[in-house]
Amino acid sequence: MKVTGVTCHILQSKVEKPFVSARGWVYATRASCIVEITTDEGITGWGECYGPAAVNRTLIETQYAPRVIGRDPFDVEVVWEDLYNRIKDYGAQGFSITALSGIDIALWDIMGRAMAKPIHKLIGGAYRRSVQAYATGLYFIDMDRLVEEAVEEALAYKEQGFRAIKMKIGLGDPKLDFRRVAAVREAIGPDVALAVDANHCFSVPQAIRLGRMLEPLDLLWFEEPISPEDHAGYAEVTRTLDMAIAGGENDFTRWGFRDIIATKAMDIVQPDVCAAGGISELRKIATLASAFGVECVPHAWGSAIGLAATVQFLAALPDQPPAFRPLPPMLEFEQTPNPLGDLLATVPIVQRQGIVTVPDGPGLGIEIDREILNRFKVA
Ligand SMILES: [Mg+2]
Repeated sequence: MKVTGVTCHILQSKVEKPFVSARGWVYATRASCIVEITTDEGITGWGECYGPAAVNRTLIETQYAPRVIGRDPFDVEVVWEDLYNRIKDYGAQGFSITALSGIDIALWDIMGRAMAKPIHKLIGGAYRRSVQAYATGLYFIDMDRLVEEAVEEALAYKEQGFRAIKMKIGLGDPKLDFRRVAAVREAIGPDVALAVDANHCFSVPQAIRLGRMLEPLDLLWFEEPISPEDHAGYAEVTRTLDMAIAGGENDFTRWGFRDIIATKAMDIVQPDVCAAGGISELRKIATLASAFGVECVPHAWGSAIGLAATVQFLAALPDQPPAFRPLPPMLEFEQTPNPLGDLLATVPIVQRQGIVTVPDGPGLGIEIDREILNRFKVA
């Protein structure tokens, strides 16, 4: 089998209620670079790249596509190494890897379709047929009702059956952050797990101070307390606080994660399959993490394609650590309305009572709705 074409679709949709995280960016639209790879056997595979779509498309069209066309999709890691080594002098991290991730995912989708097997059966097999999802939400929307809106949203997730929720923090006032998290914890009770995500808005002392305030609230993890470049700072926060420290959605490849994992600078690493290098590279990052006793719980924030790739990867990820009653790695399931997530697959991946069934169709296990693709395509 040979690749005959690599096409990038830039999809964009409006967000009904714009929302804000600790980085202060208002999310008024959602956009994504979707990668479609065709073959001479009529099999088409789909991938997705994290981050600004136009840059990903330019990288793929100018740097990668000419080197992928004519290749056998089953040489997926050979292709990965070739593309990475072609680009690493100019970009061993960031866009060059997010663009590469989209190609890698599409090649795995093709292999799965060619074998009539879901991807997780090609990367080790099904450790689980369903994954526990945690609801990502509780952004900052109404600045006059920050505590009330968080409580209402969290209760709605609990009502839907979610057993775990992740909320945003980083309001520039540790007392307000604490009040908001404490109100949510009190509202949802002790049996729903609660994580907080600061989107790297704190300094080391600020993170430690707020972390100590939050620790009595029994949090699942404290995500991205500080800036992703500061690995030594992560190690300091991780050693100082008792609660688990998570991060890694802005890190890339096995080399980018190597020192974080080997120094245990984080308790939990969160590589994104659409950013850190695709399914091929996430397997390597997860293996590194396992070797050093670090948990791997992937980050996910994209369209139905990124979500499906994450679910396939999670199905084949061993329990960390194995146990009589293990705590399996959870699926990040964002809850802010996103048509690219809800509509792009003909049969969307949904949660019921906080549980997502792993699709067992070939490849990613979803089919792309061309009409929706064309409706949201802007370039
Ligand atoms: Mg995050």
